[in-house]
Amino acid sequence: MGKDLNPPARVAVFGDPVAHSKSPQMHNPALEATGQGCQYIRFHIKPDDVREAFRALGPAGFIGTNVTVPHKGDAFAEVDSRTEIAERIGSVNTVLVDGDQLIGHNTDAPGMKRAIRENFAVDLSDLRIMIIGAGGGAGRAASIQCAMDRCERLVLANRTVEKVEKVKAEVAEFFDDDRLSGPADRLACIPWEPDALARELEHTDLIINATSVGMKASDPPVIPESLLQPHHLVYDMIYAPPRTRLIKAAEAVGARAANGLSMLLWQGALAFEFWFDVEPPIDKMAAGLKA
Ligand code: NAP
Repeated sequence: MGKDLNPPARVAVFGDPVAHSKSPQMHNPALEATGQGCQYIRFHIKPDDVREAFRALGPAGFIGTNVTVPHKGDAFAEVDSRTEIAERIGSVNTVLVDGDQLIGHNTDAPGMKRAIRENFAVDLSDLRIMIIGAGGGAGRAASIQCAMDRCERLVLANRTVEKVEKVKAEVAEFFDDDRLSGPADRLACIPWEPDALARELEHTDLIINATSVGMKASDPPVIPESLLQPHHLVYDMIYAPPRTRLIKAAEAVGARAANGLSMLLWQGALAFEFWFDVEPPIDKMAAGLKA
């Protein structure tokens, strides 16, 4: 498992497929800059080999690993303990080897939180947020993070509305306090339909696109473009293409917008910090990601 490399591999990403992963180009400059004396590699792990791969990490001298599709659920099951955010999301994207124990963490949603702060200089707790695609994997995780941060207001939108009804029930406890009363419910779920979106966007500061709509040039608008307003902050989790139709439409009305590259960067930076307990050299990581 990478012992014979120079420097030796001590961190990795598990995935299937994994060749497309940008994590090595982000982490290796950070490992070099902070003098860790090791490198980060990809492991293509087939579903049948997941358990053995996790169990081999410690004996092979690994500090930890990232986990990508489709193994995040398996990682959740394989670790010995988990951080609160990983526990709540039910998926693990970062594993730390601690003696003979594996600790599971999830930096995807905290990465999104940090990306919002870096892009817009505002915290989730101060925002009225709409998450479109809140019933998907990334959208549900973002919803849990926004709820844990006790955002001002959270509107969960999804094509399949049953999925966000479940998410709403999962996060309801975070809104169950005296801030509940107000002109609009602090927690709501809506279908992905123009009328419902129009009603809620009046009371929204931050719009997060967590759907895959916008990856293809032929995709429809995520929200009717006439509903975008200059005061909106728009975060599109998509980063390829870098300027989606949603981002272009937001900028056209004078709204601020950012793509998902910063989320990818910060999930990596937070994983690096979790493994090495040092401040991640974010400029080096960002440059690596763009290389
Ligand atoms: P997922 O679990 O498959 O969820 C997909 C979501 O998109 C669901 O809410 C789905 O709605 C919705 N959707 C898909 N096609 C749609 C369509 N034609 N019309 C309306 N809604 C549609 O995927 P995921 O892993 O959460 O990823 C979602 C997006 O986030 C992807 O673009 C991915 O690249 C991005 N992402 C970015 C980062 C980052 O670091 N920047 C990290 C993770 C994910 P239904 O529930 O109705 O099917």
